[in-house]
Amino acid sequence: MTESTEISEQKQIFGHPQGLFYLFFAELWERFSFYGMRALLTLYMIDVIFQALAERDYATAAVYSSYGSLVYASTVIGGKVSDKILGMRNSIFLGGILMSIGHFVLAIEDNMAFFLALSLIIVGNGFFKPNISTFVGTLYEKGDPKKDSGFTIFYMGINIGGWVAPLLCGWLAATYGWHYGFGLAGIGMLTGLIVFWSGIRKNVFGDRGLPPTEEVLDKKVLGIKQGVLVPILAVLAAPLIALLLSSYQAIATEGMFADQNIVNVIFTGIGIAVLAYLAYEMFKANVKERKELFVAVLLTFFMTIFWGFHELSGSVITLFAARNIDLEGIMSAAQTNSLNSMFIIIMAIPISLMWTWLSKKNWNPRTPYKFGLGLLFAGISFYVLAISGGSANENGLVPFAYLLLMYFLLSVGELFMSPVGLSKMTDLAPLRLIAFIMGVWFLSSAFAFQIVGFIGKQLAIESTDKNVGGFETLSVYTDGFMLIAKYALGAGILVLLASPIIKRLMGKVH
Ligand code: GLN
Repeated sequence: MTESTEISEQKQIFGHPQGLFYLFFAELWERFSFYGMRALLTLYMIDVIFQALAERDYATAAVYSSYGSLVYASTVIGGKVSDKILGMRNSIFLGGILMSIGHFVLAIEDNMAFFLALSLIIVGNGFFKPNISTFVGTLYEKGDPKKDSGFTIFYMGINIGGWVAPLLCGWLAATYGWHYGFGLAGIGMLTGLIVFWSGIRKNVFGDRGLPPTEEVLDKKVLGIKQGVLVPILAVLAAPLIALLLSSYQAIATEGMFADQNIVNVIFTGIGIAVLAYLAYEMFKANVKERKELFVAVLLTFFMTIFWGFHELSGSVITLFAARNIDLEGIMSAAQTNSLNSMFIIIMAIPISLMWTWLSKKNWNPRTPYKFGLGLLFAGISFYVLAISGGSANENGLVPFAYLLLMYFLLSVGELFMSPVGLSKMTDLAPLRLIAFIMGVWFLSSAFAFQIVGFIGKQLAIESTDKNVGGFETLSVYTDGFMLIAKYALGAGILVLLASPIIKRLMGKVH
């Protein structure tokens, strides 16, 4: 068999190219490492990195938000470098190796190692995440109706990793120590790389994912081959980002908590630049394209609001679970991070069957309605947490059932928006702008972490008490959740009201 074997000649599994299953398991393990580590991140910063500070919640919110913003923003660069130079396979290897090193560096007990590790994960994810997602698409011929279900299977892989990892890493961290939890995340990432490598060895990807041309890796820039220069620059970027992230430590130790957050400034700049570029493209485009681009931007904006509340799960909601939920004997606060993925696994297939069933009856709601409903689900989910305070026991702890119901509703909302939006982006973007629009779509998660940081800072509790919680913190969180619920419900209602107009702008795109 040669490298250029066509996918259609390859063995199929359940009607899908067998390459899908290698990508499925590689991404499963990568997300295992990502979410296993994320489950520990906030609690680790509160209990270890910033433990001596009364403002530790504030500093943690700031680092968490910068980490999240950069981890998703780096995907735009990783996608571009892959298109132009490395190709998807090399990018996935480079990203996976950097992420594994990052996770193992996290296993070292040192504050500076901690920031360096986060930076390696940021750079690594930038190369890994966008390219493995695009790789899935390339396994199918254009217009193949199996592509959507291929992506659904892939989304399941993501969430199997996101479900199991917090349970295992959370258990290891609680039983043996934080660094065992982080170490397991690293082993997960290495497993993912081995799966991907074995897929290449078995030639299941045909000629997909190779660099754009044979010479491009050897082309010299500044006297160094590009194929060598990119990994060098990627590795060099990590300490720079680490300095940026660790500036919070300096800020924290000097007790300066003014909003001097350089990452916020960078993101405001990126936001303005992206909008200006889009305005320019819309100006150049014809009327149909202009309308479609406008809708793509609107949907991305709604998605940003949704992720801004959803991504609180790794920060404020983890802290709420640690301080105000009666977890007795069920799971630890870190392990509650698995609930979102658990409900996605349970609900993904029923909801996609529901869309098919509604389509047959001609009742399948158009995309903007689904987005409006998704935001309403988010609003109701936060409302559930907001009213949970009324059922607090004498220690200020609320029943676990509230958290369970909240995650169920939030996950249903996610399924109304995230997979639907992803496929609409490819329909709405003019061909010449598809890669850019996908980058903008990923930026919605990056910007969402700015919202997460803002809310995390508003709900920061000032205390050095390791066991702070109960009635001391309950109303801070529930009042905050009520406000979030109102904003999400308000946004959902506005989107539903605007849907008839957005629907018209979308033309034939459903
Ligand atoms: N849970 C999904 C993933 O990990 C989406 C996360 C996001 O874009 N914020 O891929």
